[in-house]
Amino acid sequence: MNCPSCNVEMGELDGEATLRRCGQCFGLWIDVADLNRVLLHNNLPGLESLGGRVDAEALTGQCPECQVDLVRVDGGERQHRLHYDTCESCGGIFLESEFKDASDAEVAFTEIVDFFQHFSAKKKRAAL
Ligand SMILES: [Zn+2]
Ligand SMILES: [Zn+2]
Repeated sequence: MNCPSCNVEMGELDGEATLRRCGQCFGLWIDVADLNRVLLHNNLPGLESLGGRVDAEALTGQCPECQVDLVRVDGGERQHRLHYDTCESCGGIFLESEFKDASDAEVAFTEIVDFFQHFSAKKKRAAL
């Protein structure tokens, strides 16, 4: 499976077949079911409840599985904008950069949880 950003083959992390990392841009590709499992396990709501705005203008890569354009979703705080790309066809999620230290699945999942905590930070604060 090739990286949507660089078009180079992404490697598996620790036998987690649905979690892949690009050795060039350090982006991560994760299946939405696995992502939701990890989020729920860490007391975060599922991806659907984390908010974010679709940026229809954003230039994104294509899903390596479905060959359709990915959809950019923006979130985070004003000082620290974050975004992820998602495939509306298979539900795959592409997280760009920020994951240089994710050399194994455990670290990758920790960083993914951290990413989505920041991604939804604004919404959480508004609810308090
Ligand atoms: Zn890449
Ligand atoms: Zn897809």
